[in-house]
Amino acid sequence: MVTPVQPYAARKRYACPGCNGFIEPGEGHLVVVPDDYPDLRRHWHRACWFLEQRRRHGR
Ligand SMILES: [Zn+2]
Repeated sequence: MVTPVQPYAARKRYACPGCNGFIEPGEGHLVVVPDDYPDLRRHWHRACWFLEQRRRHGR
């Protein structure tokens, strides 16, 4: 499950697993929760998640 986070809702700094960088407070991004592992929430840059999807699905 992927949930967009609006800039105003981003109040903390998060680590992005896609680029090992940080998502700064106030930056819009995505929260990704695996259906099977609801505890494994991850915050991603939009661009990083997009690239990850392409990687997973090949090409
Ligand atoms: Zn990133």
